[in-house]
Amino acid sequence: MEFEAVIGLEVHAELQTKTKMFCACPVVDLTQAPPNSAVCPVCSGMPGALPVINKQAVEFALRVALALDCRIETTSIFARKNYFYPDLPKGYQISQYEHPLAQFGHLNIKTESGEKKIRIQRVHMEEDTGKLTHVINADQTAFSLVDLNRAGVSLLEIVSEPDMNSAEEAGAYAMALREIIRELGVNSGDMEKGVIRFEANVSIRPRGQTNLGTRVEIKNLNTFRGMEKAIRFEVLRQTALVEAGLAVVQETLGWDETAEETTTQRSKEEAHDYRYFPEPDLPPLVVDPTWVALIKSNLPELPQARFKRMHAAYKLGPEETSLLAEDLQISVYFEQTLAADPSLSPKLLANWITGPLFAWQNYSGETFSQIKVQPKELAQLLKYVTNAEINQTTAKIVLEEMLINGEPAAKIIAKHGFQQLRDSAQINSLIRIVLSENPKAVSDFVSGKESLINWFFGQVMLKTRNQVDPAILRAALKDELDLLRQK
Ligand code: ADP
Ligand code: MG
Ligand code: ZN
Repeated sequence: MEFEAVIGLEVHAELQTKTKMFCACPVVDLTQAPPNSAVCPVCSGMPGALPVINKQAVEFALRVALALDCRIETTSIFARKNYFYPDLPKGYQISQYEHPLAQFGHLNIKTESGEKKIRIQRVHMEEDTGKLTHVINADQTAFSLVDLNRAGVSLLEIVSEPDMNSAEEAGAYAMALREIIRELGVNSGDMEKGVIRFEANVSIRPRGQTNLGTRVEIKNLNTFRGMEKAIRFEVLRQTALVEAGLAVVQETLGWDETAEETTTQRSKEEAHDYRYFPEPDLPPLVVDPTWVALIKSNLPELPQARFKRMHAAYKLGPEETSLLAEDLQISVYFEQTLAADPSLSPKLLANWITGPLFAWQNYSGETFSQIKVQPKELAQLLKYVTNAEINQTTAKIVLEEMLINGEPAAKIIAKHGFQQLRDSAQINSLIRIVLSENPKAVSDFVSGKESLINWFFGQVMLKTRNQVDPAILRAALKDELDLLRQK
């Protein structure tokens, strides 16, 4: 029997607002700020302290929900999710449960067999927990340090339907989602800093069956690679179980990055009973539809829309368009270069960006907003190429120097005397020199060895370090040799 993987993802993304979700503490970089330096009675769970909803966080959440084409609920309700853990000072997390901020969205992803629609179940707001650091002493006694700088930071949870069927699809979904929230300006996308975390729900079923199989939930996945590996591991593990006549047990798993295997955290019997109930300290969250409409009208163009527009506008292949449209900075760079010189061929420009500039980006680590060559400078360089004032080989050398020292193309070309020679009097005299230096070749040519024309061509090029306009040279050479033959 053949099995199919079924995957649903829960994505947690921090909303990088100035202040936390329910208090005025600043949102700080955990790797920079001293522990517990951004903490107040509200986020440290002091008795009697009251939360206040952060409007900017709601706006950020709405941006994401709108970008995912969700239905926005005018009224949503915050709820208490009760559990005990040292990083949760209140003993409960304020979240949303029965009445989330938004539902029924979707995100299209690219798969091997084309575009695929992944439905979004819900998008809701909650608060992050603190961070624990576990320390083991030399004598094997242990203790934990608690940093509450992250406690109370706004967190968005985006829950998909179980619409993905491979680790690759889950990866594509997660990456597309990261790109969107980054471009919406609500999250830096810095995975190393833990600002986006995943939980993967994984089950298998016989291919063709519509009922869902028993699922496991893998917690605390922090990288795309880790998530994909964990999913692959689980699918293999579950398939082996079922093939051996055993059943998959519903449980919560962790991912052991070093052993590269999933490990049991708790079984269904030990599952938390969170005893959700509406948060008594907060009113229902009511969003004004005019405000929502305003946020919607101010959404930036997102990667998929940009791909469609650029594909139609520049008539490049889908692969090439993807390379230019997927990343906002690259698309801006491409379009600013074209704007600097509208006569520039989009195809030529695309070749230069996906060729030498991508290579430079890999080599230098500079992004397109950091590289020293401004779009209008690249446009100028390519104008010289288009007008055959310099050839492609020379232009690559010039570009490299532009990238290193930021000088304009014209300056570098002049400095090295790179201009292509197009003056026919000069070209003719170069040809005559080459002919007079090679009397044997000339007589061979005159007595019928036609192919020597290419050899003469090469000799002139060699003398001038490839700086003669090839078309002009070829024509001039032909004229000159025809004359010789008539003599
Ligand atoms: P919980 O609140 O316990 O995490 P949910 O019903 O909210 O449970 O589901 C969470 C995620 O699990 C969703 O992304 C959903 O698509 C996914 N999911 C549900 N059932 C399955 C299944 N049988 N196989 C894979 N994923 C599933
Ligand atoms: Mg879950
Ligand atoms: Zn606080």
